[in-house]
Amino acid sequence: RDEHFFRSDKLKVIGELAAGMAHEIRNPLTTIKGFLQLAYQHGYKDIDKYHPMIMDEITRVSELTSEFLQFSKPNLTQMKTESIRSCMERALSIMGTEIEREGHDLSVDYPEPPLYVLIDKDKIVQVLVNLFKNAIDAMDEIGKIGVKIYGRDNGVFIELSDTGKGMSADTRAKLFEPFYTTKAHGTGLGLSISHKIVQDHGGRMEVAETSSAGTVFAILLPAAASIKSE
Ligand code: ADP
Repeated sequence: RDEHFFRSDKLKVIGELAAGMAHEIRNPLTTIKGFLQLAYQHGYKDIDKYHPMIMDEITRVSELTSEFLQFSKPNLTQMKTESIRSCMERALSIMGTEIEREGHDLSVDYPEPPLYVLIDKDKIVQVLVNLFKNAIDAMDEIGKIGVKIYGRDNGVFIELSDTGKGMSADTRAKLFEPFYTTKAHGTGLGLSISHKIVQDHGGRMEVAETSSAGTVFAILLPAAASIKSE
């Protein structure tokens, strides 16, 4: 029956995730082991040289593990009607300082009247934070980050644009896969987790546009049935 099919399908996904995670952890461990061995052979005289590299690799494993935990968290436990504006403001309270520090120009258009969605707010905030982080990473020079929010056909659209370097067709095809990253220190988990969160809400997430002039990510969430005033 279908149930059985879905279960084996799920096991396959879990197997792939576990294999990916094992691989991602083994690499930094091999590096740490190598550096420690070298330091040991040199009687720890040049430990200062190896210390930063060992620390970086340990940080990497630790970040990877905490991001990976997101996959195992029970999904959508806090469903409430929220305004998109309140989610965006929360995400910007987390990311605004970094955007400012990097010197990027940020413009956000909030819809009037406000738009509401039935969501697990913490999860959607996490998605927005991931998109802001990626936008910052994509811009080597000072650039612009823009947010547009609008309602259409019972859906609420959030478009987040950057003026970064864009991505190849290959990256565009693979970016929602777990562990896919083009960054030296990326985990490749941010967008796969974000994609899953949006899908769990019955929504969609996609790259709307990408070129050497920048990228636009679009999120669609079903509009909340009941509209309350703020
Ligand atoms: P990570 O940020 O750890 O690499 P993600 O899953 O968040 O993992 O992103 C996967 C890849 O998608 C990135 O490595 C990058 O190549 C590409 N990407 C994501 N967002 C953007 C963006 N705004 N502009 C260009 N490329 C992007």
